[in-house]
Amino acid sequence: MVSGRRRVVVIGGGIAGVSIAGELSHNHDIVLIEAEETLAHHTTGRSAAVLLPGYGNKIVRELTQRSITLYEERSEKYEVELLEPRAFLQIAGADRADALRDIVSKTPTMHMIDVEDAFTLCPYLQRDAVAAAAIDETGSAIDVASLHQTYVREIAANGGVIVKNKRVDAIAPGNPCVVSSGDETWECDLVVNAAGAWGDVVAAMANCKPVGLMPLRRTIFTTKVDPALGRGPMVFGTPEAYYFGLDHGVLLGSPADETLSEPCDARPEEIDVAQAIESVNEVTTFNIRSIDTAWAGLRTFAPDRSPVVGSRSDEPNFFWFCGQGGYGIQMGPGLAEYGAFLVRGQVPVEHGAAQVDVDRVSPNRFP
Ligand SMILES: Cc1cc2nc3c(=O)[nH]c(=O)nc-3n(C[C@H](O)[C@H](O)[C@H](O)COP(=O)(O)OP(=O)(O)OC[C@H]3O[C@@H](n4cnc5c(N)ncnc54)[C@H](O)[C@@H]3O)c2cc1C
Repeated sequence: MVSGRRRVVVIGGGIAGVSIAGELSHNHDIVLIEAEETLAHHTTGRSAAVLLPGYGNKIVRELTQRSITLYEERSEKYEVELLEPRAFLQIAGADRADALRDIVSKTPTMHMIDVEDAFTLCPYLQRDAVAAAAIDETGSAIDVASLHQTYVREIAANGGVIVKNKRVDAIAPGNPCVVSSGDETWECDLVVNAAGAWGDVVAAMANCKPVGLMPLRRTIFTTKVDPALGRGPMVFGTPEAYYFGLDHGVLLGSPADETLSEPCDARPEEIDVAQAIESVNEVTTFNIRSIDTAWAGLRTFAPDRSPVVGSRSDEPNFFWFCGQGGYGIQMGPGLAEYGAFLVRGQVPVEHGAAQVDVDRVSPNRFP
C-alpha cells in the first residue's frame, strides 16, 4: 500500500482526467494539464450522452452498474440531476429478428415487446421496416457537462490546480518525474495518462510501452423534427449499424461508424453523415433531406475493448487511465473510483468499488 500524500500530474481534461483527478484530490496534490483552451473539447464534449447498463463487455457493465450508484450520490451532493430516465428501443427487420432475440437472451436488462407497442412508442417508425422489437427501460440520458463540472469543482475545492492551453510535450521519468510543456515544468511522484486518443503518444514521451490504443471515429448529426413528438426512446438498429433519438424538436442520429483514425481533432465525413441519414430514413417516416449540425469524435479502445487502468510492473510512476472507448461517460464515475483505489495501492473490490479483476484492466495484459 502506497502511503502519504503524493504529487500527481494528470494529463488530459476530458471526463477521464477530471474524474480521476477529482477522486485523487482528496489525498494527493493534483495538477491537471489540458492541451486545449477548454476542457472536454475532444471526445467528452461530443458524446451521445446516454447510459445503457447492458452495453459493452462484462467489465464495462460492472463499472456502469457501480457508476449508477455514484451518479445518484453525486447528483445529491452537487444538487444537480445528472441522470434522467431514458428508454432504449432496439428494432430489427425480418432478416435480423433472430439476431435481436439472441441479443435479448444475453442481456438481462432487455426484453422483447410486441411490435405494435414499438409503433405506439415511436409512431414515426416505418411499419414494414420493423419485424421485432426489444426494450431496455433501465437506461438514462446523462448531463455530461454537469457531471464534468462536478469533478472540476471537486478538484478546486481540494486545492488541485487545472492548467489549460498547455500541451505536455516531454516527460522525464524518475523520482521525481518531470512533466514539461515548452519551458514550463512540473515535478511529481506519479503521472496519470488520461489523454484519450493520445494515450499511446503520451506514453511514448515517458519511454513507456504503448498498449495499442485504437481511436475509432464516430459521427453524429442533428436535424429538426416536430417538437410535438417530444422525447422518444433512443432507437438502435440490429446489428448496431445506426441509432437515433428525438428530444423536443431535435433528432440526433449516428451511423454507429468505427473508422480507425490518428489521434486528432476529428471531423465528420460527408459519406458518414449521408449513411446515417439513409439509415434513419429507411426505418422512419421522417424523410430527412438536410441537417443542422454534424460532428465526430474518437472513441478510443484497447484491443480487447476493456479500459486500461494501472501501471506496468516495470513503469510504476506512469499510471494508465485510457481505453474508455464508447463508454467513458456512462462508466466514468465507477472507473474513476476504481482507478483512485489502485493509485492509493488499495484493492478496489475490497473497498466497495466495481467487481472487476485488476489483471483484466491492467496495462500488463498487453506485451
Ligand atoms: C459520437 C460519440 C458518441 C459517444 N456516446 C457515448 C455515450 O452515449 N455514452 C458514453 O458513455 N460514452 C460515449 N462516447 C464515448 C465517450 O465520449 C468517451 O469514452 C469519453 O469521452 C473519453 O473521455 P477521455 O477523457 O478519455 O477523452 P477526451 O475527452 O478526448 O479527453 C482527453 C484529453 O486529453 C488531452 N490531451 C491529449 N494529449 C495531451 C497532451 N500531450 N497534453 C495535455 N493534454 C492532452 C486532449 O486535449 C483531451 O482534452 C461517445 C463518443 C463519441 C465520439
